[in-house]
Amino acid sequence: METKEKINKWDYIKIKSFCTAKETVNKTARKPTAWENIFANDITNRSLISKIYRELIQLNKRKIIQSKWAKDLNRHFSKEYIQKARRHMKISSKSLIIQEMQIKTTMRYHLTPVRMAIINKSTNNKCWRGCGEKGTLLHCWWECRLVQPLWKTVWSFLKKLKMELPFDPVISLLGIYTKKTEKPIRKDICSPMFIAAQFTIAKIWKQPKCP
Ligand SMILES: [Zn+2]
Repeated sequence: METKEKINKWDYIKIKSFCTAKETVNKTARKPTAWENIFANDITNRSLISKIYRELIQLNKRKIIQSKWAKDLNRHFSKEYIQKARRHMKISSKSLIIQEMQIKTTMRYHLTPVRMAIINKSTNNKCWRGCGEKGTLLHCWWECRLVQPLWKTVWSFLKKLKMELPFDPVISLLGIYTKKTEKPIRKDICSPMFIAAQFTIAKIWKQPKCP
């Protein structure tokens, strides 16, 4: 018992001298990282966990957009575009359900025939909607001829609202508004419509019908 106390006291002295040493103070006087801010400013565990979670999502999101989406869509995303996609998630984060959808789409959460075929070790990776094509993620969200009419409807509706956007999955799925358009684009109108379309597609994800 006595030795234990002695050790504790010794530890205390060591820690104290470490903290007060001028050198250490200078070393730690740098700017705190985002992670340190998260840990330092949080009072409750619950919000701490959700903040860590969110930060991890942001990190992963960048990676996934940079590698997987870029490969699928056969294009490169600049830093600026990735920033746009991340900001997009923040804008639509008022509603948890919408935020969830946004995350699931960007993070490529939805199961596809291609992934299911790998999981089940089968060779059938055809689109579940029965169009005969290979069921990749991009196919299920965008390319499938049974999904295209829905997107076309969304675009023609936006056109009626005097908003002409390029017919591009990057805009509707990742929230990256690529080109500068002549007329200003009301993202507050466009984005909810794209998300609604996403919900419609996701709802009948596995059924062989037109959304
Ligand atoms: Zn299909």
